[in-house]
Amino acid sequence: MAPRILTLANQKGGVGKTTTAINLATALAAVGERVLIIDLDPQGNASTGLGIDRANREISSYDLLVGEARIAEASVMTSVPNVAIVPSTLDLLGVELTIAANADRAFRLRDAFKAINELTIDGKPVSYVLIDCPPSLNLLTINALVAADAVLVPLQCEFFALEGLSQLLQTIEQIRSTLNPRLSIQGVVMTMFDRRNNLSEQVLADVRQEMGELVYDTVIPRNVRLSEAPSYGKPALLYDLKCAGSQAYLRLATEVIRRERRLAAA
Ligand code: ADP
Ligand code: MG
Repeated sequence: MAPRILTLANQKGGVGKTTTAINLATALAAVGERVLIIDLDPQGNASTGLGIDRANREISSYDLLVGEARIAEASVMTSVPNVAIVPSTLDLLGVELTIAANADRAFRLRDAFKAINELTIDGKPVSYVLIDCPPSLNLLTINALVAADAVLVPLQCEFFALEGLSQLLQTIEQIRSTLNPRLSIQGVVMTMFDRRNNLSEQVLADVRQEMGELVYDTVIPRNVRLSEAPSYGKPALLYDLKCAGSQAYLRLATEVIRRERRLAAA
């Protein structure tokens, strides 16, 4: 069976895309999925946060997009069981220029996925792909939306959470009506929730009001363990499984799987 491909997108930086990619991937793997992360951010935070040092990034997501590597060649296993990653390098900064003139510039990642069955994890096919996007609605994010089955939107519990969301939703709608009719929204995950802060509650209520059922029941708390873990090159789930952040990502994974089964059946 083809893997489900989920894109983590929000053109704002610092909202929890990468933290969610790393920890959701780990949580999915913990319940038996085999997960590939595609690091599509030139900053490479997902690659670094999973302990992939620069020397291990000879082949990267850049090579996938320019058609110089196949997905199985570009993937490296992480120290997390059943989680592989296609790392990113700063080369990605130049990819727009390299592919912008090509008619298929928005389809590069989708085309690369045609060979996903060449990649096996623990001898079996990949079941989930999570694409970690840069903080921009650029050609990289467009490639990720065109290649995806569904989008997962992390929103930070802060005053301007909803600002910019309409632009993202518009972009998703545009891509659905043109380049990728099967694209759906998996859900909106509220991140960095601070229960001592009234504003967090207010923002959560506003977003639920606006986005309804799309918002996951699971809310990711602001949790220092989540921000510490990347400096050890580990997901929070392997750094401190019991912390509130890790536990929230485990719950999020079960919600994501439940929704995926529903979407896949539809
Ligand atoms: P993005 O990928 O959207 O730019 P990140 O996942 O890198 O966002 O998160 C931005 C910063 O906030 C990082 O330093 C990260 O460690 C921290 N962070 C993310 N989620 C949480 C959280 N729930 N609690 C505390 N810190 C968090
Ligand atoms: Mg990021």
